[in-house]
Amino acid sequence: MSPTATSTQAPGRLVALAPGTFRIPERLGLPVHLLGARCRACGETFFPKRVFCANCSSDSLEEVEMPERGQVQTYTVVHQQLPGSAMVPPYAIVRIALPNGVAVQTVMVEGDLASLAIGDVVDLVAGRIMEDDAGNTLISYLARKAQTEKDEVRGA
Ligand SMILES: [Zn+2]
Repeated sequence: MSPTATSTQAPGRLVALAPGTFRIPERLGLPVHLLGARCRACGETFFPKRVFCANCSSDSLEEVEMPERGQVQTYTVVHQQLPGSAMVPPYAIVRIALPNGVAVQTVMVEGDLASLAIGDVVDLVAGRIMEDDAGNTLISYLARKAQTEKDEVRGA
């Protein structure tokens, strides 16, 4: 099943803000597996998906699920409302290093932003962004601190 927003869907469903970016989980707060691309020729992995490999220019790439857990590489906390943004401050813009070598950028809206630190273990989870006109909940992938401090980053 393709996670796209179509008019045939029943109202109130979870719909990806950017269709095809990740598999839709059963409910908000569950881990999200981003959909990337892996080059069959050289093995390099990318997110978002690419048509051509940036490493070897091959056009033979396959869709792969990305790990849902990574480590904070860098971040910045946003305190002011940006015009037109659905995000309500305070929140952090976080760059996350995944164990497969790919870095992704997203936001963290939960947890103690004041204690957020480089190296923190975080999960990518489904978070509500807004409702659309049909009553669907538009969701995206958000960063959330791992539930226990002892959690480790698992391999891809
Ligand atoms: Zn390649």
